[in-house]
Amino acid sequence: MNEFDLRHIWHPYTSLTRPLPCYEVTEASGVHLTLADGRQLVDGMSSWWACIHGYRVPELDAAATDQLGRMSHVMFGGITHQPAIRLCQKLVEIAPKGLDRVFLADSGSVAVEVALKMAQQYWHAKGTPRTRFVSLRRGYHGDTFGAMSVCDPDGGMHELYKGFLPEHYFVEAPSCRFHDEWDEQCVVELATLMADHHEEIAAIVLEPIVQGAGGMRFYHPRYLQWVRALCDEFGVLLIADEIATGFGRTGQLFACDWAGIRPDIMCLGKAITGGYLTLSATLTTEQVATTICEGKAGVFMHGPTFMGNPLACAVACASIDLLLSSPWQARVKGIEAQLRGELLPLKAHAAVANVRVLGAIGVVELHKPVDVALIQRRFVELGAWIRPFGKLVYLMPPFVITSDELRVLTRAIATVLEEKICTG
Ligand SMILES: *Cc1c(COP(=O)(O)O)cnc(C)c1O
Repeated sequence: MNEFDLRHIWHPYTSLTRPLPCYEVTEASGVHLTLADGRQLVDGMSSWWACIHGYRVPELDAAATDQLGRMSHVMFGGITHQPAIRLCQKLVEIAPKGLDRVFLADSGSVAVEVALKMAQQYWHAKGTPRTRFVSLRRGYHGDTFGAMSVCDPDGGMHELYKGFLPEHYFVEAPSCRFHDEWDEQCVVELATLMADHHEEIAAIVLEPIVQGAGGMRFYHPRYLQWVRALCDEFGVLLIADEIATGFGRTGQLFACDWAGIRPDIMCLGKAITGGYLTLSATLTTEQVATTICEGKAGVFMHGPTFMGNPLACAVACASIDLLLSSPWQARVKGIEAQLRGELLPLKAHAAVANVRVLGAIGVVELHKPVDVALIQRRFVELGAWIRPFGKLVYLMPPFVITSDELRVLTRAIATVLEEKICTG
């Protein structure tokens, strides 16, 4: 462990007085992370949904090197450049039809802030301001204030920032799971809320199909179709946060494609650059964009310093090209089949509450929260990089993982269950 790091550097959601162990990574290649002591781990996390092609990807390295030889950054105010133009063309081409106006930002959370601001400006411009959003319990949309305000309210952050966070409406997480029979009961609460309060609701914000960091739950595509229909009926905007699900993770290019719907605003991030650089995008329709720009403000009021960073855009273009020219659907299906074969039998363990798989996402939900430091140390000994949270031990490997490499990950989970390490 690095002493300076432990004492001085915050990691995501950590304490500086009771730090947890951290593993120093010196390089990464393919699906392997190399630790400072030389050990190699198979990456089961894709560095939080991002590195879908793995690491040191020749095509992405080349795109970055080529762009470095031209310019790594230039301001986006009053200036444009080919990497941004090419990227936005690609995004418009592959996104649900009609999402053809693009705002580039620097992280997922900011893409969500931008989406919320678009919705606010839209209603302001129409002369009927609406200041409230509806979101789903168990949702996660990022760590900035606007994004936090639409995250699950019971996660701790709402209580901590009460008085500062705006208060919105929440409905229960969809009870109808992805592989269940569709049950219309699932939308009753939302339908009632919409009927009663639509005049104050600017938009519904949700993660389509997969609720990620708020619980790794997969819900029924019919739910999304119903939400779209309710939004149409009551004239409310639909914001789809595809930051985790975008670019093939669930088996469709975008999770909205499972339901064949088009949201009014869509947020992308994480895998957009194949995990090389931080970048995000918020897409919307001509109608929303035109309304905003014809409004009193006359412009959309946002403009980050590093907007449209050319280096990130160039790598994002290469990543999307690489994804689309690869057999990604077959790869994700293969991962899904293997995860089913090797994780579903783990349901037999007493510690396991539920196992579920969708696309390249495998989740083992336990009855009790795991001791992360303890379980992670054992995973590392077993050659696997898996980072559980709460009761969830899950895998979302790079799409290029081989079946032998994937087996290292599923075996590691089976082993900690057999050794009862996770149950404390
Ligand atoms: C990760 C995530 C975000 C936030 O993205 P950051 O890049 O961490 O700011 C927002 N929404 C969803 C669904 C995410 O998974």
